[in-house]
Amino acid sequence: MDLKSAIRSIPNFPKKGIVFRDITTLLLDKAAFKQSIDQLENYCKGKKIDKILGIESRGFIFGGALADRMGVGFVPIRKKGKLPAKTIRQEYQLEYGTDSIEMHADALKPGDLVLVVDDLIATGGTLSATCKLVEQSGAKVIGIAALIELAFLPGREKLTGYDVFSLVKYDSE
Ligand code: AMP
Repeated sequence: MDLKSAIRSIPNFPKKGIVFRDITTLLLDKAAFKQSIDQLENYCKGKKIDKILGIESRGFIFGGALADRMGVGFVPIRKKGKLPAKTIRQEYQLEYGTDSIEMHADALKPGDLVLVVDDLIATGGTLSATCKLVEQSGAKVIGIAALIELAFLPGREKLTGYDVFSLVKYDSE
């Protein structure tokens, strides 16, 4: 199945000029959802992975399902102020201003091999900050996997040096 056909595009959301790639329609379609996790599992084959990290909030869906398939633990990356125990934090640039993401300080051990999962790579800012969080705790990013890549944005450039994998690419808005 062409996974792209299961993704709904909503023009001018959340603001004018942005085409929002809505994965809720893919999640509703059991064959499309299964295929997307199958393809992510295929990407993981032969890789040694200790933990899968998912980025709030849609990264939890794909990362969580994949962690179950792979038989490894799952680590949530959240917007600041949401995680209850001691956290480590990374700030990153937004179009206007900055934002930050957090991870529990005891989630990763030095030397852990980590796969980072999100739904979509746009500018790569969130993923790049997530990789820094991993490295801050002495663990290693062995790959970045996303359902969707907006290939007309410099996400891959921002993530130079990492193995970046995506299932569906868009070459323009
Ligand atoms: P970025 O840090 O720029 O790579 O943005 C990453 C996050 O923003 C992704 O995890 C997406 O959830 C969300 N996002 C950015 N652009 C879009 C879009 N066109 N459609 C849906 N989600 C988007």
